[in-house]
Formats: sequence, C-alpha cells, structure tokens
Amino acid sequence: MSIDEGEPTPLCPIPIPFKAFLVHADTKRAQLEEVLAAFGLGVEEEALLTRCARCNGQFRPEPLPAAALPADHDVPPGILEKHLEFWVCARCDAVFWQVSYGAGWATGRPGPGVGL
Ligand SMILES: [Zn+2]
Repeated sequence: MSIDEGEPTPLCPIPIPFKAFLVHADTKRAQLEEVLAAFGLGVEEEALLTRCARCNGQFRPEPLPAAALPADHDVPPGILEKHLEFWVCARCDAVFWQVSYGAGWATGRPGPGVGL
C-alpha cells in the first residue's frame, strides 16, 4: 500500500487469490502442522496418498499386478519382482509402489514423485 494521503493504493493491481505464509518450524512434521493451522486446512486420513505426485490426478481405484501395468512403464525389473501391487495414476499413467523404508511411495519415472 502507498503512504499517500487518502485511500490506500494497492501496489499490485491484480488481485492475488492466495495467501503467503512464512514457515518457521524446522521439521517436516512441524512445518506441515504449522501450514495446516495457518490456512485452516484439515487432513482426512482416507485422502492421504490418493493423488499422483506428478500431476495431482487420482490413482486408479485398485492396485495392479506387475503384469497389468501400462506397456510404457519404466519400473525397474527388480522392483517389479519385489512388489505384488502397483498404483497407477488415472491421468498420466505414472506407476507408484509402496516403499519398504518408512511410510511412502516411489515412482519408476524420473521426476518429483520419488520417495514420497
Ligand atoms: Zn499423474
């Protein structure tokens, strides 16, 4: 806002449809809790890990065995042999599987979805 007399003038004429928030917490868990509280967001457990990390599309309703994966998947052979079920994004066909270390998912394609 300007400091001129009268009605304040916005510095940016375009309305910004989102809020910005500076996170202060150091750990991932504390950061998540801080952001959820700041924006008044709720998290439903049944909605966790239901969206593709690449495109935010929803997963197909049921996991698939390795033999039923899309033909162009690039899941490494060792992973195909090790896991019984894979979750596939209904929008972009990214393939995910549950990782054995901690709670999370990994994807066979390069990108931001590894180690969710
Ligand atoms: Zn996707």
